[in-house]
Amino acid sequence: MDVFQLRDRVLKGGKVTRDEALELFTYEGPDLLDLFAAANRVRHHFRGARVSFCSIMNVKSGRCAEDCVFCAQSVRYKTGVPEYQLLDVEAMVKEAREAAKRGSGCFGLVAAWRGLTKGAILDNVLEALRRIKAEGIIHPDASLGIIEDPAIAKALAEAGLYEYNHNLETSRRFFPRICTTHSYDDRLRTISYLKAEGVLICSGGIFGLGETIEDRVDMLLDLREVGVDTVPVNFLNPIPGTPMGDVPKMSPLECLRCLAVARFVLPEADIKTAGGREVCLRDLQAMMFFAGASSTMLGNYLTTFGRSSEMDLQLVEDCGLTAAVKGALSAL
Ligand code: SF4
Repeated sequence: MDVFQLRDRVLKGGKVTRDEALELFTYEGPDLLDLFAAANRVRHHFRGARVSFCSIMNVKSGRCAEDCVFCAQSVRYKTGVPEYQLLDVEAMVKEAREAAKRGSGCFGLVAAWRGLTKGAILDNVLEALRRIKAEGIIHPDASLGIIEDPAIAKALAEAGLYEYNHNLETSRRFFPRICTTHSYDDRLRTISYLKAEGVLICSGGIFGLGETIEDRVDMLLDLREVGVDTVPVNFLNPIPGTPMGDVPKMSPLECLRCLAVARFVLPEADIKTAGGREVCLRDLQAMMFFAGASSTMLGNYLTTFGRSSEMDLQLVEDCGLTAAVKGALSAL
């Protein structure tokens, strides 16, 4: 395969086929850096020199009834994760202000539960979104699980929700191996409800769960089909106590390859390195942008620590890139 020919086709609006994406996952030469260089050019063409940042807050932690095998917050695994119910609105708004000060363009309210239903919890989430929007602090995002009622998606949109995170996690074929308490279709349906309300969609997955390259490619193709705006690329950070606790971490080069293939398959999307970035990429973190990523998280993850915001802002500058908020806050 000539990755530069493929790059030129993508730059002209061409789509990578399934076979080509599979080949990219095994591409070796003449130089593996060719793959990253080609992905970098695609990133630059579609996303420019801007790197977007987002921060998240775990607004309800632990004791989730679902059984996702990688997750420290499932009630089925003993991981020692902090457990608390939904934080109050003031705490969420305060943390949104902190995220904006750090330089993030988006702030996501994330909760460990199966999904949102009508009631007091939803009312509090809506109130937090309204406050964050009304005060013009930052783009309010959320990751609140499965939504089974389109009216809830509508209410979130009306409260000012900018983008909703709901990962496909892996391929349809592999999904039952990582979760048995809800389905791939539950996830697709949730995304469709939010999309119908004009909310941007942040959806990606976790690499390194034992999936095949076919699974990786099929998930990326499904994300392309759905038409997602942001693609979080998580690398498994094995948490002791979960069924994935002993799974070896991916190598840095394998992680970079996932980013590069994601950039080829979804050339216009905001490809975001998320969980597992520091522990899996290690000293090759700077390479994530030169392999196709256009975004990353700032600050901590849900149950694990990230590094300091200053280090990441410096990293972006050192790479000759520019930190950018996602869209104009004046549009809020
Ligand atoms: S639904 Fe979310 S919080 Fe619950 S176990 Fe799965 S990944 Fe964890």
